[in-house]
Amino acid sequence: MSEEKLRFFDLSPSEFREILARNGFPGFRASQVRRWVFSRKTDSFGEMTDISKPDRAKLIGLFGETVFSGKLAAETTSDDGTKKILIEWPDGHRVEAVLLRDERDHRTGCVSTQVGCAMGCRFCASGLDGFVRNLSRGEILEQIVRLNALLDEPLRLTHLVIMGTGEPTLNLDALLPALAEATSPDGLDIGNRRVTISTVGIPGGIDKMTAADLPYKLAVSLHAADDRTRSEIIPQNRFFGIRPILAAAERYFQKTGRRVTFEYILIAGVNDSAADARRLTDLLNRKTAIVNIIPYNPVPELPWKTPSTRATLAFVRALEEGGIQVKVRFRKGDGINAACGQLRRSYRAPEEE
Ligand code: SAH
Repeated sequence: MSEEKLRFFDLSPSEFREILARNGFPGFRASQVRRWVFSRKTDSFGEMTDISKPDRAKLIGLFGETVFSGKLAAETTSDDGTKKILIEWPDGHRVEAVLLRDERDHRTGCVSTQVGCAMGCRFCASGLDGFVRNLSRGEILEQIVRLNALLDEPLRLTHLVIMGTGEPTLNLDALLPALAEATSPDGLDIGNRRVTISTVGIPGGIDKMTAADLPYKLAVSLHAADDRTRSEIIPQNRFFGIRPILAAAERYFQKTGRRVTFEYILIAGVNDSAADARRLTDLLNRKTAIVNIIPYNPVPELPWKTPSTRATLAFVRALEEGGIQVKVRFRKGDGINAACGQLRRSYRAPEEE
C-alpha cells in the first residue's frame, strides 16, 4: 500500500523548514536540501551525500525517493536542440514543457500553467480537448526544475516564458509563488526581468498582474488588429474586445515601466494582409508596445497555414515603416511537436483510437 507522501515543490520554503523542524531535523538541513535541488540539480534524496544516512532515510519517508511528484513520460529533441518533456502527474494527467536554445546562448524554459485550456483559440492545439484543471505551484516549479536539469553543468536556464498550455492569468495563485522560487537567489536564481508571462488578453487578469506590481514582462496574444478577425480566432475576444485589453496593457506599462509585447501569429489569409499591418500600426502605442511576429506553427488537426517567408517579411517591414518596434520569432522545434499541446495530444491519440 502506498501511503500519501508530501509534495516537495508544493511547500513554500518556510513550510519546508517547519516540517523538517517538526520532524526533528537539525536547523541547517532545509537549506542543505534546497541547495542540492536548486543549485546542484539533484532530485533524489539518496544522492545528497552531505546529509547523514538516517536523515536521508527520513526524508525519503516523508517525500518519497525524489523531490519530483510527476514522472517523465516522454522526452524528445529536435535538430535545433529544442527539447520537449512530457510529465505525468499522479492523477494521470500530463503536461508538456520545452527547453529552447538559440544563437545568443539564451536557454529558455517554456512551461504550462494548466492541464488543457479553456480559452479555445481556434488555431491552438492546447485547447482542442478543453480544460481539465489548474496546475499547482509545485507542478509549475517542477517543470522549471526539470528543464534546468536537462542542461549540462554548469549551464542554467537564463530565461523563462509562461507560454505552454493554459491561461496564466487564470492561475496566478499557483504561478506567482512558483515564479518567486524560480527567480529567488535561494531558488533557481533566474533574473526577474527574464521572465515573460503570456496572456490571451483578459483585462481583469492583466489588472491583477498590474496590482501585484510584478517585475516580470507581460506579453499579450493579440493575433489580430480588428475585433471581427480576433473574435473568429480567439472566441474569448467576444467578451472583451481589443480596446479594453490594450487599455489594461497600458496600465501595466504605466505601473511597472515595462513595455508590453504583443504577440501576433501570422496565419495565411487570415491576419497577414497589408491592411492588417496598417490596422495594427494604427492600433498600438509606438512608445509602449513591442510586436512579436510568429509565423503560425501548423497543427495537423487544424486547417490554418503559415504564410511564406516573403509575406512574413513584408508584414514586418510594413510595421517597421509605421514606426513599430518588431521582433520576429521563426519557428523552433519543428519535428518534435513543439507547438503548444501537440506533444500531449500526440501521446494520447494512440490510446484513444
Ligand atoms: N494562454 C496564453 C499562453 C499560452 S500560448 C496565451 O494565450 O498567450 C503561448 C502563445 O503561443 C500564444 O501567443 C498563443 O496564441 C501561441 N500559439 C498557440 N498555438 C500556436 C501555433 N500553432 N503556432 C504559433 N503560435 C501558437
